[in-house]
Amino acid sequence: MPMFVDTSPPGQCIFCRLVAGDIPAFRVWEDELSIAFMDIGQVNPGHVLVATRRHAATLFDITPQEAAAVAQTAQRVARAVRAAFDPPGLTLLQANGREGDQTVFHFHLHVVPRHADDGVALSWPRKDPPPEVLKGYAERLAAAMAD
Ligand SMILES: [Zn+2]
Repeated sequence: MPMFVDTSPPGQCIFCRLVAGDIPAFRVWEDELSIAFMDIGQVNPGHVLVATRRHAATLFDITPQEAAAVAQTAQRVARAVRAAFDPPGLTLLQANGREGDQTVFHFHLHVVPRHADDGVALSWPRKDPPPEVLKGYAERLAAAMAD
């Protein structure tokens, strides 16, 4: 997972400074609600971050319009990554909260070109609950979505 941690003082979010042009970045796309720029860590060549232009910490803090803009920009970036770098695979990664492995608390999404044996790994500890447990989870979520 990302090892970079934003140590900016409160109110001086590194991505807000980047959006404002106060710190340099290699931008690849900008629109009214989103911005795309090169990740300085470059897990693989062509690794891009797509962020909201407005400061919002997590998925829970952005508007539906910002979510749509980020998703559309990510798709546009992914197509460009495929055209420019031709990776055999591509992963989107979006983290929320420290326990979700978020390290910069300004909403962003990683567009990561992928290659065989590139060292990127995501632990995926399946629990395979029985159907009645799964049904209970679905009912809880469906009820929450109806609110
Ligand atoms: Zn910010």
